[in-house]
Amino acid sequence: MICVHAFDDVLAANADYQRTFADPHLEGRAATGLAVVTCMDSRIDPLGMFGLAAGDAKILRTAGARVTDDVLRSLVLAHYLLGVDRVIVVAHTDCGMTKNNDEEVHAAVWEQAHIDSRSLRFETFSDQQAALARDVQRVRSSPYLPEEMPVVGAVYDVHTGAVTITVDDDWGHRDD
Ligand code: ZN
Repeated sequence: MICVHAFDDVLAANADYQRTFADPHLEGRAATGLAVVTCMDSRIDPLGMFGLAAGDAKILRTAGARVTDDVLRSLVLAHYLLGVDRVIVVAHTDCGMTKNNDEEVHAAVWEQAHIDSRSLRFETFSDQQAALARDVQRVRSSPYLPEEMPVVGAVYDVHTGAVTITVDDDWGHRDD
């Protein structure tokens, strides 16, 4: 089985990309000090929505923008080695993670492939605001990150492009 042909289109696109690529001599540090934790949803352009370009920010993506152990690991690295000093967790409207619970995802895997996926936690949620508040708190309470580092939660509207901060204080409310 030669899997590489499954990528013919993207490699052809990369060949085009290289033709006009000019090395911008960027550093690996995040120029704006920003880390964006967001969903893997293909409608989200995490750089574009904040007017950023390559080199500006660290982008961490998980299903549902959930703050997993691996996100925390990456944020600790990003803070101490790569210039990150503020974190925004960006959930979004119409997120697939609100549409099925973990049991339903396990059932779908079983139905399609007869594979028991129950050792995975998909971290689905029904209350997006509660999940976002929990995830923001998870970053804030990490013993490895500075207490004073700004961390907020926000929701991106996939239809308007608007980002609204919805988790600001410790209890998940916006304090205007
Ligand atoms: Zn999503």
